[in-house]
Amino acid sequence: MPVLWSTIGPARVEQALAKSRTIDDAAALLTSELATRVTVNALRKAWAAFREKDPALAPAGMLLGNPAPIVIAGMPQTNPVQDRNPVQDRFGYGDGPVKPLPRSGMQSVLCVPDIHFPWHSETGLRLVLEIAERAQPDVIVQLGDLYDLLAFSKYPRSYNHYTPKEELELARRLALDFWWQLRKRCPAAKCVQLRGNHDDRAHKRVAEVLPEIEHLVTPAISALFEFEGVLTVQDSRMEYEHEGVLYHHGHMSLGRHFTHNLQPTVNGHLHRGGVLFKQTHKGVIWELNAGFLGDISAPVFTYGAQRRLHGTTLGCGWIDSYGPRFIPFE
Ligand SMILES: [Zn+2]
Repeated sequence: MPVLWSTIGPARVEQALAKSRTIDDAAALLTSELATRVTVNALRKAWAAFREKDPALAPAGMLLGNPAPIVIAGMPQTNPVQDRNPVQDRFGYGDGPVKPLPRSGMQSVLCVPDIHFPWHSETGLRLVLEIAERAQPDVIVQLGDLYDLLAFSKYPRSYNHYTPKEELELARRLALDFWWQLRKRCPAAKCVQLRGNHDDRAHKRVAEVLPEIEHLVTPAISALFEFEGVLTVQDSRMEYEHEGVLYHHGHMSLGRHFTHNLQPTVNGHLHRGGVLFKQTHKGVIWELNAGFLGDISAPVFTYGAQRRLHGTTLGCGWIDSYGPRFIPFE
């Protein structure tokens, strides 16, 4: 039998709601009181109809289970649900003097580690180009060891596939193409080229063997590191500084650069990707090693002094307002 709500009226329903914890309970109560089935839906509809006629009636939800907040004398009257700090509630930490995150205004920097052209990792370079295109860094820094210059090394070697001229021309062509690809993908990015210990091999040989012509050869060697639209730091001992972060090829073991510089530092050289953090009196400083983009399987990386390359990590570095990170490609 349908319920005749017009004969029941809002007062009865209000009473049932006031006696119940939920609207289901109210429907059950009315079912037993009226000896006819009252569904929750019917009850909602009826209450909505009552409110349409009399807008002064409270919404049904307000009649159910919303106890008045407990007020303690002298305490500020806040809503305990809305005003609570979820972090403080959960962990018991208050508002401390913590720097806001992210640090506003920091530019994003793509850190391209040692490539060692022509013994580069094609997969690695493809991934760097993909990251550059997707993430659009403000700055791109190649951290040196752009070339390997194996043919100019004084170390004994048995993997000489190229004459010095062939190796240099091939490596230069590859490097030109790589920077061109980067600049095409990120036309607005500021581009920086650093030099590493491998990049200095040709110059060192001249200085050792025939220092009399050093001044004649230096401009030709420097030109190998110049690219259109790219700022080049020709001295491998020099750092490039951007927003308080020092970028250089590196020459010490991991963790010694930033404790020496006492400021955030980015390097390649060790070919092992990772980040170290240290608390100092000046705040937290860090050192990012951007990893390696050479072809780990190339025989050139297995001879003599290069055996320490075990533990090499293919990848690149990234810095933005949230800090530094190493992106591994394996
Ligand atoms: Zn290197």
